[in-house]
Amino acid sequence: MVCERSEVFASACAIARAFPLFTRRSSASRRAEKKSVTVEFLLIGQNNGPMEFTTLKCLESATEGVRLAARIVDTPCNEMNTDHFVEEISAVGKELGIIPQIIRGEELKVRGFGGIYGVGKAAEHAPALVILSHTPEGATQTIAWVGKGIVYDTGGLSIKGKTTMPGMKRDCGGAAAVLGAFKAAVKQGFKDNLHALFCLAENSVGPNATRPDDIHLLYSGKTVEINNTDAEGRLVLADGVSYACKDLNADIILDMATLTGAQGIATGKYHAAVLTNNEEWEMACVKAGRKCGDLVHPLVYCPELHFNEFSSAVADMKNSVADRENAQSSCAGLFIASHIGFDWPGVWVHVDIASPVHAGERATGFGVALLLSLFGRASEDPLLNLVSPLGEDEVEENPERDTKRRRLV
Ligand SMILES: [Zn+2]
Repeated sequence: MVCERSEVFASACAIARAFPLFTRRSSASRRAEKKSVTVEFLLIGQNNGPMEFTTLKCLESATEGVRLAARIVDTPCNEMNTDHFVEEISAVGKELGIIPQIIRGEELKVRGFGGIYGVGKAAEHAPALVILSHTPEGATQTIAWVGKGIVYDTGGLSIKGKTTMPGMKRDCGGAAAVLGAFKAAVKQGFKDNLHALFCLAENSVGPNATRPDDIHLLYSGKTVEINNTDAEGRLVLADGVSYACKDLNADIILDMATLTGAQGIATGKYHAAVLTNNEEWEMACVKAGRKCGDLVHPLVYCPELHFNEFSSAVADMKNSVADRENAQSSCAGLFIASHIGFDWPGVWVHVDIASPVHAGERATGFGVALLLSLFGRASEDPLLNLVSPLGEDEVEENPERDTKRRRLV
């Protein structure tokens, strides 16, 4: 790989994507020895000295994170059910010396997590809220990453069709990205409190499935009239962000999810859609995306005009919009935010990765690089600082391009 120092991180993550771990081809299992690929970096341009050992360690953590996320997303639900996902989280916890907090099955119901419980209760494998917490000494703020982990989405009783259901093993892409990024972030020395929350459920059908018209009480204390059981991601995430806010006292809550098919219409296959209550963070997400290769573009944030799409006569809100042609991806995100409250003073960022989570038949591990870059400033790692939105100013990096841009104005 021949590139400039500022492009090393994005390039390494891109290369990692090209070598997926998951396969069940019988020919692969017959091969005893594992194939190995050697990647060499040749730095050009400014700062083109040799690559430091710390840089290589960071690239190792980041690429491992990307490939872990992609492997989980590629693995079908008969192998990656909620039990297996909990095991994946526990394995990462063990490696980092963190004991996960696991709230599962009937305990979810008892403790008021009506969103996660309601979505997952029809499945053979119980739903779960799992939390990994990194709380270093000297931390100055608390960050929560909340991932949507629907290990399979049939749509529930509002069932999907035979052409729209295949691929729904990927509906856990947000949680997979949070896991991959958390592992890498902690390994590289994260200076602030960081909680990774995994909202795990299989949206299945059965006699115990949630029906359209059912009303659920979520962890926020708000009631939701279910009018579409296929709009389940926002229900599990609403519980996750409420917990981050009420129980973990987070200052910054970011949720990541394969939330809406409409995301692909709004921002396409290559850019995730970001919705946030904070303009600075909106810009930071876009910048971070350009630095790490996980591209991002903003959605309209306007709760005062959009949130009434969820109006219900008998509950605090419905879970699916009245008009599907009115900024659907924005509305879906607003549903989540409404459970921490639009007047909550903290930073809330929602990243919808429904389309970029895969490229054709393969998972991309999208989101891992984005989280590492976006929160790079909270890391001790020099490379993650460099690719953070506050890292080395773009103007300094490329004065010529900047001059041209200025001339256009
Ligand atoms: Zn769904």
